Amino acid sequence: FALPDNFITIVGSNFAILCYRSVKATVLSNELIIVASETVNFDSELPHYKTEGGVYRDPTDDGRIYSPTIMWVEALELLLEKLKPKINFSKVVAVSGSGQQHGSVYWKKGSQAVLSSLDPGKSLVSQLKDAFSTMDSPIWMDSSTTKQCREVENAVGGALELSKLTGSRAYERFTGPQIRKIYQTAPHIYENTERISLVSSFMASILVGCYASIDETDGAGMNLMDINKRTWSKAVLEATAPDLEQKLGNLAPACAAAGRISSYFVERHQFDKNCFVIQWSGDNPNSLAGLTLNTPGDLAISLGTSDTVFGITAEAKPSLEGHVFPNPVEPDGYMVMLCYKNGSLTREDVRNQCAEKSWDIFNNYLEKTPPLNGGRLGFYYKDHEILPPLPVGFHRYIVENFSDASSDNLKECEVQEFDPESEVRAIVEGQMLSMRGHAERFGMPNPPKRIIATGGASSNESILKLIAQIFGCPVFTVERPDSASLGAALRAAHGWLCKEEGGFVPISRMYTGNLEKTSLGAKLAVPAPGDEGRELLKKYTVLMKKRMEIERRLVEKIGRA
Ligand code: ADP
Repeated sequence: FALPDNFITIVGSNFAILCYRSVKATVLSNELIIVASETVNFDSELPHYKTEGGVYRDPTDDGRIYSPTIMWVEALELLLEKLKPKINFSKVVAVSGSGQQHGSVYWKKGSQAVLSSLDPGKSLVSQLKDAFSTMDSPIWMDSSTTKQCREVENAVGGALELSKLTGSRAYERFTGPQIRKIYQTAPHIYENTERISLVSSFMASILVGCYASIDETDGAGMNLMDINKRTWSKAVLEATAPDLEQKLGNLAPACAAAGRISSYFVERHQFDKNCFVIQWSGDNPNSLAGLTLNTPGDLAISLGTSDTVFGITAEAKPSLEGHVFPNPVEPDGYMVMLCYKNGSLTREDVRNQCAEKSWDIFNNYLEKTPPLNGGRLGFYYKDHEILPPLPVGFHRYIVENFSDASSDNLKECEVQEFDPESEVRAIVEGQMLSMRGHAERFGMPNPPKRIIATGGASSNESILKLIAQIFGCPVFTVERPDSASLGAALRAAHGWLCKEEGGFVPISRMYTGNLEKTSLGAKLAVPAPGDEGRELLKKYTVLMKKRMEIERRLVEKIGRA
């Protein structure tokens, strides 16, 4: 990846609405090193919107959570002002970004004309404040559309059918059910809407001065796009709202250019007129790019407040759980995403109950109990779990004669409790076995090529060791708080490179062999298991199958539909 050095110094830059709390910019040099970053916090720096954590909660509509659309515009302006002393905008060759996935923006009829004729002498806010048919953007935290979810699923033949079509069953936060709710409860707003953008394509639209396409990867978080064809699914569009296709516009791959930056930014902020705006995408796809996952078999496990698994697969195998999105850095492949609600907080609870509130004692128990835990399997749901859809409750089993049986004739018996040491091992082993089982169902190869661990618990070496044993591959860690922002900057550079070369270029070409010298490096924390480890892996495979079988029965018995 070589750039003519008399041409530019900055290759990727992004303005990422990382989450609902703030907007952040990350600027990468042509050596893929972060050279500047800036943040605008919505609550503290734009206090006149009176948001809490960047959002409003509607006291009259249970589960309705939204953000003021125009606040994001003002945040972008402020961010550019804060960045100006640090960065020569005229040297930026490509900009991309990361918008919180699922959130949506409703442009009023006639706004295309406003967008394409912005006056660089005036602020964006003053010119765009009346450009929306509703001032409120529903966001990913909204859970008020259960009725619409069931209606859309039923209209296409059920939840599984919808998942096969769009990559996910219907979820309240997904944009399609949100649009249907607006169509049903505020038809005048729907009627007066000329274009619906996602947060990502909204920000890209402002930068290019016309409506930007929705990125295919982010589009898969809407319950509207055919996951195989990567076009809008007519059946789902019809089940959602009338005349929707024209309001959505086209889809585009994540590495495509949305266009050149508009004259507004050239004149007001001195961007180069040739600077490309690469398609913006969602926070999840950008995180995957920022963690440098790029080929099938790459897996990331984020052990934060809740646990998330991202992986890359060659084929789409959607099911009732998890999500399939297009791979944001490779036009033919897919990314899968699994979300667990019971992550670190539930592990903390077990630590507090069994290990004197100390991670050191917790780890000591992990080290002194044997792998496979004598066939003890635990299911720990302090909160209603998403994956599997089970209610609050702890369930414990011991698989009998575990060491010398095959998975077909293993029997388990339910028990009320484990000793504290086994309880600690059971919660960690159980979660990793579940992640492996579900990832494999989605077509993740076994073993994965490598795992990148992130999030608070990835600092725990005993947990990392267990991950390597259960998955049978090396585990790497990264030290970066916001992979999504970095991922978007990297995609900006990637999109620029594809444009320069006149076709798709694998993203890895930008950093292979050089990763450690860039801001993208990962550290090997646990190597792949040796011969002994491979024997253990076989036994874990048996235990994983047993766990998946018990889980299926639990879901049949007490699971949510
Ligand atoms: P968030 O998802 O909110 O960004 P983090 O990724 O920062 O959260 O993870 C925070 C969690 O990490 C805490 O809830 C804590 O339980 C967990 N954690 C921190 N240190 C350890 C450790 N040594 N072992 C296991 N878990 C840990």
